[in-house]
Amino acid sequence: MTEPARRLVEVALPVPLFQTFVYSLDGQYEHEARIGSRVLVPFRKRQEIGIVVSLDAAQPARGVVRAVSAVPDAEPALDDGLLALSRWISEYYVVPIGIVMRTVLPALLTGAAQPHPNVKTRRVVRIRDDIPTLLQREKAFARAPQQRALFELIESLGGTTSVEHLLEQLKFSPSVLKALEKRALIGIDRERVERDPFAARIGRIEPRHLPTSEQLAVIGRMATARPGEVFLLHGVTGSGKTLVYIELLREIVERRGKTAIVLVPEIALTPQTVDRFRAVFGDDVAVLHSALSDGERYDAWLALKRGEKRIAVGARSAVFAPLTNIGAIIVDEEHESSYKQGETPRYHAREAAIVRATQEGAVVVLGSATPSLESWTSATAGKFTLLTLPDRVGGATLPSVAVVDLRKAVIETAATAGEDDYQRVVTTPLDAAIRARLERGEQSILLLNRRGYSAFVQCENCGNVATCPNCSITLTYHRSPERLVCHYCMHQEEPQRVCKRCGGATLRRRGLGTQQIERLICERFPSARVARMDVDTTSGKWAHAEILDRVGAGEVDILLGTQMIAKGLDFPNVTLVGVIDADVGINLPDFRASERCFQLLSQVAGRAGRGARGGEVLIQTRVPTHHAVKCAVTHDYMAFVTEELSGRIQPAYPPNNRLANVVFSGTTESSVADLAIAGASWLRRLVQARESAGLTVIGPAPCAVERIKTRWRWHVLLKSEHPHELTRVGRYFLERFAVPARDGLRVTFDRDPVSLL
Ligand code: ADP
Ligand code: ZN
Repeated sequence: MTEPARRLVEVALPVPLFQTFVYSLDGQYEHEARIGSRVLVPFRKRQEIGIVVSLDAAQPARGVVRAVSAVPDAEPALDDGLLALSRWISEYYVVPIGIVMRTVLPALLTGAAQPHPNVKTRRVVRIRDDIPTLLQREKAFARAPQQRALFELIESLGGTTSVEHLLEQLKFSPSVLKALEKRALIGIDRERVERDPFAARIGRIEPRHLPTSEQLAVIGRMATARPGEVFLLHGVTGSGKTLVYIELLREIVERRGKTAIVLVPEIALTPQTVDRFRAVFGDDVAVLHSALSDGERYDAWLALKRGEKRIAVGARSAVFAPLTNIGAIIVDEEHESSYKQGETPRYHAREAAIVRATQEGAVVVLGSATPSLESWTSATAGKFTLLTLPDRVGGATLPSVAVVDLRKAVIETAATAGEDDYQRVVTTPLDAAIRARLERGEQSILLLNRRGYSAFVQCENCGNVATCPNCSITLTYHRSPERLVCHYCMHQEEPQRVCKRCGGATLRRRGLGTQQIERLICERFPSARVARMDVDTTSGKWAHAEILDRVGAGEVDILLGTQMIAKGLDFPNVTLVGVIDADVGINLPDFRASERCFQLLSQVAGRAGRGARGGEVLIQTRVPTHHAVKCAVTHDYMAFVTEELSGRIQPAYPPNNRLANVVFSGTTESSVADLAIAGASWLRRLVQARESAGLTVIGPAPCAVERIKTRWRWHVLLKSEHPHELTRVGRYFLERFAVPARDGLRVTFDRDPVSLL
């Protein structure tokens, strides 16, 4: 007699191993386990939440098969679409699928300690027994006037209200409430409440506009898209891209009854965009704010999964919104690097959006005034459909942009000025422009994108920056030992005492932050109302929105900050944008440094002159002839792309090839170096043995940021023209290369890195 076959399932667990695990369904479970269901299972000495990925697993050759402990949900947490997307991310970014799923699901669903997520409930009272006539009422409450008062109040509230409201705001006593319940005149139940902090935020309501003929043409084309078609919407700043998105969603969601996802770079920075969607689609919109608590996030997830809301608006992870029947995925400001996750799984939301939309037959809209070179190349190659909005709406023109050459300005003031002297930081033309705005009651935006690390060496006299002889990459100054290092080809050299170009002895390490600018501006214009926006001033949940609301209400004269202030803001009274130092980003040791700089300058310039009064942009720089600066001044995206693409051919960089950055890290410098050296030769041997044509291994060398959070870092760069090669080699390496279990040693694989720092 044979035993009945045990039901064996294959489960993905959030552990750093490229394998799934087999469990049996021996037991009594609350719900049926299906593909995509969460299961609580014993793993080593603990319990873990896993996801069922197959219902007919084979009996493993070795080991004991343990039983699933619990099946907590009636419905699978992941449907087929999200499961397929998770599989793609797992393969492409070389991450175990269980770890991908932990990112795809809200945190409350992945904790093993509490398999049933806590939902917020409240107690509500409901009238059970109507007391219709006055006479009956007199009788019922003859000796209980307080009960009558409470009963009639509940009646006046429509027969139901929350217990909290009655006891806390209206100060009724719990005993009176109890008495009514005991007499069965009212019932008290628990009811789930959705935690939606956005319900409380009331944004600016603006008039509804009718699309212009340019907008209509673009919308019309999108409405006739093939399933899975990807559009690159190249629209200059102020061309009304948001209205295009909204009209597309009205077609897709309202008319065709489908659902949609809108990705924005960072919710906190784009309250105006979010307000616009909420103004049109109201309760259909779930806002997935990064500052949501786990409970709030879970509530939003549930509302989307149940179909109570049909539009998800959020940053990167909103691409995993649990929607079915998706008709469109919009990626606003598609060039933003925040779409790439900086930790495992290091996925890019734009790529994930395209994969998800292709699976579901939805359209994708990638919108930007400054598309990434990757997307632009795909559009010119015919993979994406290019649509353009070349002009601002309503006949408005792009602001005039002028350059202030800091090299000349510095020479003029050098005799008397100190390093952080106002005149060195804010030149005479910019100073006069700010003053004029203050006198006219108009607003100014000042940008200084200074981040604390990555010093570079620049000649004060000619503006020359020390760069690598083999790459068009800035050398990074390292203090001990004192070296200039290229982080792409690992070239190293001694720092010079005099400038290589002009021979001047005015080499300087550069560094100046927003805080200093704020102090200088406040001293210079004591009566101006200044607001600073950078990571230090925006830690609170609504901090960004509060600052921006103040700007919108005209309570701020000068808004200054880092790149945060360059995104999507639409304030018609801003007539001046000043860039304190355009060169900050240009000199980071990263092949995308010029691209980022061009994007930032174009975007921040785009904040000026959105109203009838027009606008002016002043860019202070020491490199006015750099193509990133030059093309931003002339609003010439095409010229920038042409020049930048040709600079990425020899040596080749994306989009002309693909990269993976393999980072070795640990707590001891020498063991990290040893591991990186071993890893690089392991990879070289592998490439040789397999004759992987077209895959190049570069390095190892210390990362530009050598130490982060007490961990030392080295890296190796893999380059290839064939994406499949990177997938294969990456997987093989991560599975077989042995990392010793000491000094916290770790290897990470960053596919299509957006930063090599
Ligand atoms: P973009 O995102 O392309 O920079 P926005 O979507 O922020 O531009 O639009 C810029 C401004 O133009 C906004 O104030 C918006 O309300 C306004 N706008 C957009 N479309 C129209 C239209 N068809 N008619 C009038 N105003 C419009
Ligand atoms: Zn180099």
